[in-house]
Amino acid sequence: LACVASANDLGAFLHVDPAAAEARARAADARLARGEGEQPGGALIGVPLAHKDIFVTQDMPTTAGSLMLKGYMSPFDATVVDRLNAAGTVSLGKLNCDEFAMGSANENSAYGPSLNPWDTQRVPGGSSGGSATAVAARLVPAATGTDTGGSIRQPASFTGITGIKPTYGVCSRYGMIAFASSLDQAGVMARSAEDCALLLSAMSGFDERDATSVQQPAQDFSAQLHQAREGATAAQPLKGLRIGLPREFFPAALSADVNQAVRAGLAELEKLGAALVDVSLPRTELAIPVYYIIAPAEASSNLSRFDGVKFGHRAEQYNDLLDMYKKTRAQGFGAEVKRRIMIGSYVLSHGYYDAYYLQAQKLRRMIADDFQQAFQHCDLIAGPVAPTVAWKRGEGSDDPVKAYLADIFTLPGSLAGLPGMSVPVGTGEGGLPVGLQLLGNYFKEGTLLHAAHALQ
Ligand code: GLN
Repeated sequence: LACVASANDLGAFLHVDPAAAEARARAADARLARGEGEQPGGALIGVPLAHKDIFVTQDMPTTAGSLMLKGYMSPFDATVVDRLNAAGTVSLGKLNCDEFAMGSANENSAYGPSLNPWDTQRVPGGSSGGSATAVAARLVPAATGTDTGGSIRQPASFTGITGIKPTYGVCSRYGMIAFASSLDQAGVMARSAEDCALLLSAMSGFDERDATSVQQPAQDFSAQLHQAREGATAAQPLKGLRIGLPREFFPAALSADVNQAVRAGLAELEKLGAALVDVSLPRTELAIPVYYIIAPAEASSNLSRFDGVKFGHRAEQYNDLLDMYKKTRAQGFGAEVKRRIMIGSYVLSHGYYDAYYLQAQKLRRMIADDFQQAFQHCDLIAGPVAPTVAWKRGEGSDDPVKAYLADIFTLPGSLAGLPGMSVPVGTGEGGLPVGLQLLGNYFKEGTLLHAAHALQ
């Protein structure tokens, strides 16, 4: 813990709680002493980790990276946190993130940036930037994250770690502070697919407190790391697996270093027995405007609960109720959050709803349909996670549209609700990490983890 605290010049942690961690560690020791570690489900007892500060926790403050929730204490634990606690993990604290998970660089946190440990002049990606930094810097072996439009996959790619965002509905959203409810999904960021499988098994599964939770029994993803496939051999464990390469994921604008690392990863998959096939996701480019209409629309509604009455911050001086709302929200929200509330309110307003929101919903369905077309020809889809390696700090802040455009490869899978991963495959400019994105059809987390594990 001293090490975690002193390494915090990387800005990974927003809160470290030695006393709470020690109590949990002692409880884990007692469970291990009883031999529970050897029993099924015992593998995570005593394993340290940390949670993205978008998951509410009873024993530590939760801020969502926002001044709006400074010092906020939740009366309950998020389901994901609760399940990982029950599995015996020891949470060391809460991890930095973009305010309400809006961003791609962790530069929208009200509590300062998190830095890429490979080059502290660079961003770690976002919005789960603190999670990525903490795992990449080896402050914790694993961390929770959330992915609405790429926030697990992109920071995992930027910091050279492995991240998985499961199918929408596989992890409960109960106690996960909502950004865009139809897209938000919890997941894991860790050093390997093997570790991701272990954690995902513990934190996923049906939860009656989340109306969109999938009614499926909890799965053992670790058991799926080694899948028996016809014709597979020890040297070629992926024999028979068809991996689709959408031509739209390899545009001319893709930077050469990323292209090269991704191609090397694909060649590796081929060596492991996988067959690479060409597929098309023709509406890839439309995913950007569609996402940046739907996500702000949902955010503007979700964030209306921060009114100075029910939660967190309230302005100190005000004239009347309306003035209190205005001042509270003006003070509590940062620039990016305000921008999204304005965009969201606009696209949902009378007269513009049909022109923007409804059109975006229709295109969202078509994007999802395109994936089903592609999955007729392949088992998994592969491509880059982001068009470049981690960019320099400060580069995205002046031009939000530029940052939005960089989400192009992660947004389509998010809009379709598909599971996705980022697996490190090499380095690009400046020796910075590059991740390969793998996308699966609904509930194919096991196949994703299997392919990623074979690569590692
Ligand atoms: N970068 C995207 C955004 O800013 C995705 C964020 C996320 O997945 N939480 O909305």
